[in-house]
Amino acid sequence: MTRTLITGRYVVGYDGQGHVILPDGEVVYEGDTIIHVGYGYDGPVDERIDAGNAVVGPGFIDLDALADLDSTVLGFDNAPGWRHGRVWASTYVEQGPREAYTAEEEDTKKEYAFAQLLLNGVTTALPITSLLYREWDETYTEFARAAAIGAELGIRLYLGPAYRTGASVVHPDGRFGIHWDEARGRRGLEAAIAFVKDYEGYADGLVRGMLAPDRIECCTRELLEQTAQAARALDCPVRLHCCQSPLEIETMEERFGRSSIGLLDEIGFLDRRALLPHGIRLGGHRPTTASVEQDLDALAGADATLVQCPMVSARMGHFMDSFARMQRRGINVGLGTDTFPPDVITNLHTGIMATRLVEGDESACSAADYYTAATLAGAKALNRPDLGRLAPGTKADITVFDLSGFHLGQLIDPIQTMIMSGSGRDFTRVIVNGRTIAQDRQIKGIDLTRLADQAQRQFDRLRASYPERTHRHPPEHEIFPGAFPVRRTSL
Ligand SMILES: [Zn+2]
Repeated sequence: MTRTLITGRYVVGYDGQGHVILPDGEVVYEGDTIIHVGYGYDGPVDERIDAGNAVVGPGFIDLDALADLDSTVLGFDNAPGWRHGRVWASTYVEQGPREAYTAEEEDTKKEYAFAQLLLNGVTTALPITSLLYREWDETYTEFARAAAIGAELGIRLYLGPAYRTGASVVHPDGRFGIHWDEARGRRGLEAAIAFVKDYEGYADGLVRGMLAPDRIECCTRELLEQTAQAARALDCPVRLHCCQSPLEIETMEERFGRSSIGLLDEIGFLDRRALLPHGIRLGGHRPTTASVEQDLDALAGADATLVQCPMVSARMGHFMDSFARMQRRGINVGLGTDTFPPDVITNLHTGIMATRLVEGDESACSAADYYTAATLAGAKALNRPDLGRLAPGTKADITVFDLSGFHLGQLIDPIQTMIMSGSGRDFTRVIVNGRTIAQDRQIKGIDLTRLADQAQRQFDRLRASYPERTHRHPPEHEIFPGAFPVRRTSL
């Protein structure tokens, strides 16, 4: 087994309570495990890495990790989403939904997305993709390939194909509804359970299983109950989007007379395995102080995790109310990227600013709070005390953030400067399970230029397929108008 010693201007170590900064510190790892963090290691080593003027820190844990050629970005200036292809036209569903990508293109999309995550310092990812351009759900077969693609790249993954009983639709008159298919929901859950059983511990433990039912309003009560039972039996994480959209909480009120959290609490879905993006709309359709408190009590009592995805939320003009409040209530909040760019640093910065705005208080949260959310809180959510920190006995998932860039300005503190002035593009080395995967913005064995070309062509075709799915089927240029009018004439 190779023993490696890495030094840097700052090491982010873990002292058993939280992260601490070790100036000019060192980290030693042997195989996939860290054996020393601190100073004065005098044992033999096979390899020495001097990271120089850099922060040597833990890899990030991304609980809602963008694993797509992101289509959410098409909505950046194009709201409301249902008018711009974010909800299926009922006429499209009547004809029978189709896959927009070939199996090969599905593979390319995952390879591309995993590469992006790694380059941004994400060492543990729980992938999320859109089901909008799928025939219905994600499949066992494509996830078997995703596991192989992930293992080949060397990223740590929690995988499980997404499934659902229903799909949101918009009727020609603008009314919303849900198209149900219970048999498909059941088959999807069965496939997901089989996948978790087959792939738990795959690739030397890099791949673990999770259950990923699609958003709450697209699941029946039965599917959610069976999912919760399966998660307990398999003892795996279970991720469910909820408390996200006005349509969701309205639907939950109509169908169950409860808030989303209220229903999950009632059916025993909430426990330490539950990972819940996005935690924005708590307390049901007409929230009161009491109904919000009830949801918070249920989350805290169950030790469930809320997953905040700052960039996607802030772009859509809504935000968790609030990260600081969840911390006060002892509710675990982890981080997700969910949209492009899957840049954890930008997400941390956005999260800090938005939380202060929501709270109206500039001391509502700190750089340390958010850095901890993307590391230790994610590890807690996954019940993995061996991740998200650099300490003896933990996994060698390590990032090197370069501090020498002119664009970073004056250094005030490694973490504060990283978040205020840095970005995911400042990571110069990413190590997963003791293997250097990314170095100097490149990934060994991957031609990023070729991958980017392929992804662009694929995405252009996906974009061209929007009219058939979109309400009233307008042409592509009307669904996605550019920022400014285009002129091809002299002015
Ligand atoms: Zn999400």
